[in-house]
Amino acid sequence: MKRALIVVDVQNDFCEGGSLPVFGGADVARRITELLHRWSAGGPDAPEYAVAVATQDHHIDPGHHFSAAPDFVDTWPPHCVSGSDGVAFHPNLDPEPFDAVFRKGEFAAAYSGFEGSDAEGVALADWLRRQEVTDVDICGIATDYCVRATTLDALKQGFGTRVLTDLCAGVQPGTSAAAIDEVRNAGAAVA
Ligand code: ZN
Repeated sequence: MKRALIVVDVQNDFCEGGSLPVFGGADVARRITELLHRWSAGGPDAPEYAVAVATQDHHIDPGHHFSAAPDFVDTWPPHCVSGSDGVAFHPNLDPEPFDAVFRKGEFAAAYSGFEGSDAEGVALADWLRRQEVTDVDICGIATDYCVRATTLDALKQGFGTRVLTDLCAGVQPGTSAAAIDEVRNAGAAVA
């Protein structure tokens, strides 16, 4: 077994102070950094990840994903626009340990990190298979949207999949709880 850590969309616009803030985002960023540093430091308490990667929502012109009158279900205020401060990783997240970063959503909504590709255009699932990854831990923002979609796609791609719920932040408590039930029913472990 080789396990990867996938950190979903821990970006300024999804944290407090951003254009589409998720309550608790900045704190999740800080705690994910603690996990990454425990991993990089090695030692007996280090999590056994073969690799760690991040995804980023990265919009150029995503069509009706953006709206001036968003419904916060299918349409959203502009966020994570290419070249803006909002698209950057939150300062509480140390990106140095990441082996690769996968961007998604340039010209259409893309909730799942598996829709993303790295700087060379390699899709996330292909990249993980090249590293002989069999299992993934998923955390980040938001539980009820991009974490949910990334987890469901990880299962579809055949990875043993676990969600680290205490390292996730959700838009709404109700939809976040429903998303956790949904991924558990789909076969994900919930830690
Ligand atoms: Zn988006």
